[in-house]
Amino acid sequence: MITLDNVTKSYGAFQVLKGCSAEIGRGEVVVVCGPSGSGKSTLIKCINALETFEGGQIWVDGLAVRSAQTDHSALRAKAGMVFQSFELFSHLSILDNIMLAPHLVQKRVKDEIREHAKTLLRRVGLERHADKYPIALSGGQQQRAAIARALAMKPDVMLFDEPTSALDPEMVQEVLQVMMELACEGMTMMCVTHEMGFARQVATRILFVDAGEIVDDCPAADFFAGRCSVRAQAFLRFEA
Ligand code: ADP
Ligand code: MG
Repeated sequence: MITLDNVTKSYGAFQVLKGCSAEIGRGEVVVVCGPSGSGKSTLIKCINALETFEGGQIWVDGLAVRSAQTDHSALRAKAGMVFQSFELFSHLSILDNIMLAPHLVQKRVKDEIREHAKTLLRRVGLERHADKYPIALSGGQQQRAAIARALAMKPDVMLFDEPTSALDPEMVQEVLQVMMELACEGMTMMCVTHEMGFARQVATRILFVDAGEIVDDCPAADFFAGRCSVRAQAFLRFEA
């Protein structure tokens, strides 16, 4: 589903990604973890072309990301993204937030889009909030709406960048619950998170990133049993 082949990226003289390679198969739930500033957000943003990169290549379901021929809209329809800070459109209702991209980008029939959006709102437990504006919702509700919005494009893979880091503790679980349901339904997921409980429960694989390198790429069971690098073991002692 996703292939990273020796991806390199620099900000000026600072090399943030130092040759990252990995394969993510259909239906896998890959958790990306590592210290702050190690390049996790940069890596995940490269996958749907929210960041550019200079070296190597990324394929998403056969689409080459670093190519003049690739239509970024098509790429982002394949790879839905959920951000730490929700990024909902504040001037649109929750329902309109969800309907916007399927309408503008995919040009689907409006009645079909509305029905699909309502189904998604039910799925994330927000059916009663369709006509509200983002500001009227809690952080947890906004993040669930953001997940529904990403799902509205019928993506093949979902990318999450610390989706619960901006939430009050009591709202973390309701968002993780939606993500766990998605994982159980077979969605391919790549998720940057510090929620090691979530990682233990649903991750098939862990990528541990440190200083721009994928230091560990191993089955979740091995990672949590300590069969990983010394750097990852030290990280785990802090997070656990
Ligand atoms: P993480 O998500 O693991 O915390 P990031 O990918 O956000 O890490 O950032 C990795 C490194 O790149 C950090 O040192 C950060 O300061 C630097 N960085 C991120 N974005 C930029 C930018 N736009 N310009 C310059 N440096 C950046
Ligand atoms: Mg980050």
